[in-house]
Order: sequence, then C-alpha cells, then structure tokens
Amino acid sequence: MRNLNGSQDEHNATCANCGAERFAGDLLYDEWREIYVCDRECFDEWHDDNAEVVGDYYWRMNIE
Ligand SMILES: [Zn+2]
Repeated sequence: MRNLNGSQDEHNATCANCGAERFAGDLLYDEWREIYVCDRECFDEWHDDNAEVVGDYYWRMNIE
C-alpha cells in the first residue's frame, strides 16, 4: 500500500493510448472523455487517432 488515506489515486487505470496499466495517480486524467493517458506524448498519439473527438470539442467550445 502506498498511502493509507483512501485516495482514489490508489486504483489502477489504463492508458487510452498505449494500454499501460498504472496507478491512476501516475497517469493524467481527461475529465471530459473520462480516460487516462501516461503523458503528453500518449495524449498526442491518442488525439491523432481521435481527431474527430478533439475537433468536435474545439468546435463546440470556440466556434459554434
Ligand atoms: Zn500511454
């Protein structure tokens, strides 16, 4: 056990891009899509594969 305060960082999560399984606290969390990624690099690769998702969001937030 890494910490005893019952933090939700304690559970395992999987990177949406490379599939690595790590403690949620060691991953970055995307609150909107509710996915985890390892780092900016994994986010960039994920976003290459999900350009539509990111594009839609940008459109809604900034243009529509
Ligand atoms: Zn990853």
